Amino acid sequence: MALRCSCRWPWSAWPRTRPSFARNTPSLCQQFSTQEINPQICVVGSGPAGFYTAQHVLKHHAKAHVDIYERQPVPFGLVRFGVAPDHPEVKTARSPRCAFRGNVAVGSDVTVAELREAYHAVVLSYGAEDHQTLGVQGEQLPGVLSARAFVGWYNGLPENQALAPDLSCDTAVILGQGNVALDVARILLTPIEHLEKTDITEAALEALRQSQVKTVWIVGRRGPLQVAFTIKELREMIQLPGTRPLLDPADFLGLQDRIKEVPRPRKRLTELLLQTATGQPGADHRARAPRAWGLRFFRSPQQVLPSPDGQRAAGVRLAVTRLEGTGEAARAVPTGDVEDLPCGLVLSSLGYRSRPIDPSVPFDPKLGIIPNTEGRVVDAPGLYCSGWVKRGPTGVIATTMTDSFLTGQTLLQDLKAGLLPSGPRPGYAAIQALLGSRGVRPVSFSDWEKLDAEEVSRGQSVGKPREKLVDPQEMLRLLGH
Ligand code: FAD
Repeated sequence: MALRCSCRWPWSAWPRTRPSFARNTPSLCQQFSTQEINPQICVVGSGPAGFYTAQHVLKHHAKAHVDIYERQPVPFGLVRFGVAPDHPEVKTARSPRCAFRGNVAVGSDVTVAELREAYHAVVLSYGAEDHQTLGVQGEQLPGVLSARAFVGWYNGLPENQALAPDLSCDTAVILGQGNVALDVARILLTPIEHLEKTDITEAALEALRQSQVKTVWIVGRRGPLQVAFTIKELREMIQLPGTRPLLDPADFLGLQDRIKEVPRPRKRLTELLLQTATGQPGADHRARAPRAWGLRFFRSPQQVLPSPDGQRAAGVRLAVTRLEGTGEAARAVPTGDVEDLPCGLVLSSLGYRSRPIDPSVPFDPKLGIIPNTEGRVVDAPGLYCSGWVKRGPTGVIATTMTDSFLTGQTLLQDLKAGLLPSGPRPGYAAIQALLGSRGVRPVSFSDWEKLDAEEVSRGQSVGKPREKLVDPQEMLRLLGH
C-alpha cells in the first residue's frame, strides 16, 4: 500500500500529457510572436489550476509574463506535498517569464480591482477554502469537526494547526462518502509505523500515536450505487493493515442484477463493494483485526447528540432513508425511522465550497462559484477563472488541468481578438509598490526553495521525506523577512 499521508495525489500523477486541444494550438505561439505585445498576466492562487493556467499561457504566448499570487508563503495549494523538482509545475515556476508572489492575500493585501488595473488580464484560481456545513442541531458541539479542517491539520496547513482533535474516543463517524471521507478514515486507522514514514506533521503524528479510535463509520444518505469515492481509494481502505471492513450485506441485496446497467467505472467499484460485503470474514485472518471501518448507507444526519453534561458530541442521530429514483440521480427521502450512532468524534465531509474573494468580483452564492462562460467571468472583461472556483469543488487534478488549459486558451483567444487592453501595463512593478506601502513582504519561488530545503533537511533527521513548516511567521523568519 502506498502511504502518503493525505498525499494520495502523488505529484507523479500530475498529468504531463496535454489534451488534444492544447496539442493543436502551437500555431498560437507564432501568431502572437509577430505582435509587439508583452502581456502581463496575473494568476491568483498557486494550486493546480493556477499553475496549469500559467503553463498554458506561457507555452502558447512567447512574450507573456505571468505572476502567480498566493496567500500562503508556500506554493501548490492543496497539493504542496511530495513535489519532485522535475515536475511541470516547478518548471513553470522556474520560467524566467513566471514569478511566484507568495504571502500575498488577494482581497485583503491587494484588491482584484488593483490587479486588473496593473495587468492585461487576471485569472482567479483560488480554489474552494470553505466547507459545506451539516445544518443540524448540535453541529457546534466540541467533537464535531469539518473533514476539511482535519485534513488541513494533519497536512500542516497553518490555519488548522490549533485544531487539537480529541482522539480519546473509541468511535468516529464521518458524514459523507467521498474520497476526502476515505482519506480521513484511512489516516485515523493507519498503523502509526506507516504514517511515520510519510510527511504528515509531527504534531498530528503524536496525536494519532495516542489515538484510541478503533472504529470509523462512513455514513451516506444514499446507497452503494451512489457513493462518491473512487475505486483506488476504496481499495486502499480494503487493504489497510490491521483493519477489517464492516458492510451490511442487506444493503447490497438485488445489486448484482442492477450493476449490469451502470457505466464501467461505477460497475467495477460496486463489484468490489459487493465482494467486500459478501466475503467470508471467518476465512480472513483480518476478521480479528483490532480496528474496523464501516460504510453506513441510507442514513442522513438529523442531529449531533450531546454527552449527558451537554459539553461535547456523544453520537449522531441519523434519519433512515430510502431512494426515490435510480442511479446517480436517485434522491434520499426519510422513511420516518431514526437510528442513534454513538461516537466521540464527528467529521463532516459533505464537500468544499469557494468563498467570494472581493466585492468587485461576481459570485454565485448558490453554486458557490464565480459565474463564467468558458472561464470568462461574466460582465468583467479581462477577468477569468479556472479550477474549483470556476466549476465547483469536484474532480481530480486531471480535471482541473483540462479546465485550466481551457481558461488559458480563452484568455489567449481574447488577447488575439483585441479584447484585452492594448497598451503596456506595469504588472508587478505597480503591485510591488502597493504591497510595500502596506507592509506586505512577498515570498519568491527561490525563497520557497529555501523553505523546501529546510523541510527536507528536518525530515531527514527523523526518517521522513520532509518535516513541514507549519508556522508562517517561522517561515518568514527563516527567510529573513
Ligand atoms: P487549490 O488546490 O485549493 O488551490 C487554490 C490556491 O489558491 C491555494 O494555494 C490557496 O492558498 C490560494 N488562495 C486562496 N485564496 C487566496 C487569496 N485570497 N489570495 C491568494 N491566494 C489564495 N485530486 C487528485 O487528482 N488526486 C488526489 O489524490 C486528490 N486528493 C484530494 C484530497 C483532498 C482532501 C481534496 C480536498 C482534494 C483532492 N483532490 C485530488 C482534488 C484536487 O485537489 C483539486 O482538483 C485541485 O486541488 C483543485 O485545484 P485549484 O487550484 O482549483 O484549488
